Amino acid sequence: MSVLVTGGAGYVGSHTVRALYEANEKVVVIDNLSTGFSAHLPEGVPLFIGDAGDENLVDGVIAQHDVDTIMHFAGSIVVPESMRDPLLYYRNNTMTTRSLLNAAVKRGIERFIFSSTAAVYGDPEQVPVPEHARTRPLSPYGSSKLMTEIILHDVASAYGMNYVVLRYFNVAGADPLARIGLATIGATHLLKIAVEAATGQRAKIDVFGTDYPTEDGSCIRDFVHVSDLAQAHRAALSYLRTGGASVTLNCGYGRGYSVLETIEAVRRVSGRNFAVSYAPRREGDIMTMVADASRIRATLDWTPQYDNIETIAAHALAWEEKLLREGSGNIQEAVSA
Ligand code: UDP
Repeated sequence: MSVLVTGGAGYVGSHTVRALYEANEKVVVIDNLSTGFSAHLPEGVPLFIGDAGDENLVDGVIAQHDVDTIMHFAGSIVVPESMRDPLLYYRNNTMTTRSLLNAAVKRGIERFIFSSTAAVYGDPEQVPVPEHARTRPLSPYGSSKLMTEIILHDVASAYGMNYVVLRYFNVAGADPLARIGLATIGATHLLKIAVEAATGQRAKIDVFGTDYPTEDGSCIRDFVHVSDLAQAHRAALSYLRTGGASVTLNCGYGRGYSVLETIEAVRRVSGRNFAVSYAPRREGDIMTMVADASRIRATLDWTPQYDNIETIAAHALAWEEKLLREGSGNIQEAVSA
């Protein structure tokens, strides 16, 4: 039996493929390589280049590789892009999953693990935010993921499939051995920008908003190390295999760091005092987003290894330095920064 990982060449997908591979699982990947890298897959893991919504492709891969579980990472993840082009998001996220599930149901797939997001909550009424909080996404990205959650729930109930939905908080860091990491050109995430500044690819980093009613005035996020997140997927697989019921889980540590604290961590671990400038609030930003992590802790056999902002920053930095050394750094961004 194998696990089919869609989007397995992407950032979270490739870390999860590696975690599964290292746990001696049989893995097969479908990825259209629109943002992923085939070189980020361990040697010997079969890669089918194509869309997760291509039902013929999925059907063939399930049959050929004796797939009984699907982990579905493939999708689009840029919030501002989703505002400009919502139909792209409803196609790449919602419709693709509908097709994937159609193929899965026809082949009797028993387990499905889905990458969702804290963006389904919108601006939470309560922080830390529990899974039962009201879901009111503020972007087509969040809506496209929430719609997918609903579809998955209905399909699983109708066809006897079991699922785990993982709602990711702020994913950051890289493989501790710097074999893989976030390599997407033009990524806008805080830690990525901070390590680009620390490695001299950017002149400075802007802090978007220092007038929030938080301790230091900047926003607060729950950063989860990508390798811990990968292990959460592996734990979700074990949970379902041992008869666990369908469940939706926040995936964060349940602890927040401010934007300023995060930048300070990157300064400390890099030893480079790059420039930080205070900029206006970024439109659409939520002030504080921290997971209530009690359900994931109680449900999965998951012990995070890297629950520390300096460790996350150090791994992100080591990976960025490797990218630079290998000449695949973010040249475009450096020019325009
Ligand atoms: N942020 C910032 N400067 C940057 C990038 C991000 O101040 O160059 C802030 C952003 O305004 C937000 C936090 O960092 O408050 C996390 O942003 P990110 O885009 O990493 O993730 P989000 O929480 O928006 O999904």
